[in-house]
Amino acid sequence: MMVMVTAGTMALAVAMAVVRPDRREGIGLWALALVANAVTYLLFMTRGWAPNWISMVLANSLLATAFALLLAAVSEFHGRTPQRLPILLPIAATAVLMTISQNHHQMRLLCLSFLLAVQIGLILWALWRPEPPRQRRGALLISVALGTEGVLLLGRGLWYAGHEGPPRVIMSNGLSQSLTFLTSFIVVQLATLGFILMTKDRAEAINHALANNDMLTGIANRRLLQQTLRRDTERAMREHAPYAVLMVDIDHFKSVNDTHGHLAGDTVLRHVAHLLQARVRGQDMVGRWGGEEFLVLLPATTLEGARQLAEAVRASICDTPSHYNGIPLPVTVSIGICAEALQPGDRARLLVEAADKALYAAKQGGRNRVESAPLARMHVLPGALAAPARVR
Ligand code: GH3
Ligand code: MG
Ligand code: MG
Repeated sequence: MMVMVTAGTMALAVAMAVVRPDRREGIGLWALALVANAVTYLLFMTRGWAPNWISMVLANSLLATAFALLLAAVSEFHGRTPQRLPILLPIAATAVLMTISQNHHQMRLLCLSFLLAVQIGLILWALWRPEPPRQRRGALLISVALGTEGVLLLGRGLWYAGHEGPPRVIMSNGLSQSLTFLTSFIVVQLATLGFILMTKDRAEAINHALANNDMLTGIANRRLLQQTLRRDTERAMREHAPYAVLMVDIDHFKSVNDTHGHLAGDTVLRHVAHLLQARVRGQDMVGRWGGEEFLVLLPATTLEGARQLAEAVRASICDTPSHYNGIPLPVTVSIGICAEALQPGDRARLLVEAADKALYAAKQGGRNRVESAPLARMHVLPGALAAPARVR
């Protein structure tokens, strides 16, 4: 059984080591912990014919090292520098306690169980504090696995401390011994799976953000806007509900870049994105349509409602200057609105085109203002098929 545990753990370590070893997110440290765990079992197997300092002191210190490496892996995953004390102290304490308690098996077991439970507590603390990780399911799997191990270790330590009996032999052929090793092995598998799941979930979240968000401002990018607009307008059409689109363009933005530099321009873009985002409701979406143009999608919104929101946005941007290196940079925006109930055959991009036209009128009218325009429907030939709402 111990040979199987060793081989299985080693195989898991190798599998982890080949998974994206280039990324510093704890995978390498976790794999190293598995190696330490596997070697621990090899050393346990020498109990009886190798000196105690190998099968007892070294083996248990290595086990403590495995748990310390798990702690370091979790810290690295969270992007924190692993703290030395909680990593090194349990290893040193294990080595010292194993050395002085070689002939007191009950004391040895109690100390060992207690120290490992503390290490598990430290790992769980690092996993969930100061704030819970976003990768919940992986973290939960690790917590259930290690939590069970911690409870079993403490229970085992306390039970043996209260029961005088013949010294336990690690290589004994008993049910409780087999169950202990089997449990540890399952715990290692589950916790490792949980950690891989955490790294996978994070990679997926990053990919999702890269595909849907604008890198500079963090709000929706054009791709997500188009996707959402198409989906929303199809629903609005089914429900005969009005739908509004605001096209927001920063006034004289080029002169910000020319006067203060492109980094100042970037700050203004983030500032406007933030103010827009702060104004909209939960079901609305703010996105970056192009350079200094933003699109706001407002489901179930009439022209009146859209106009009120656009006015509020315009006023708040006008009243709140952006700051770059302590210099206030006044910003104003012009906004074009189109709000209508689409009919079968209307394409969603008609809304964007009309809002763009209204924006042009706002620019012509002197900027820092809101204008609206009706949907410019094309004439549909009699008998032509109704096409679904689409946006290009
Ligand atoms: P108007 O009031 O008519 O809208 O004038 P404008 O200067 O805002 O418009 P124009 O289209 O002439 O200039 C837009 C500028 O936006 C030009 C381009 O260099 C700048 N721009 C586009 N994307 C970015 C970006 O990501 N960062 C920065 N800093 N500037 C950008
Ligand atoms: Mg502009
Ligand atoms: Mg523009």
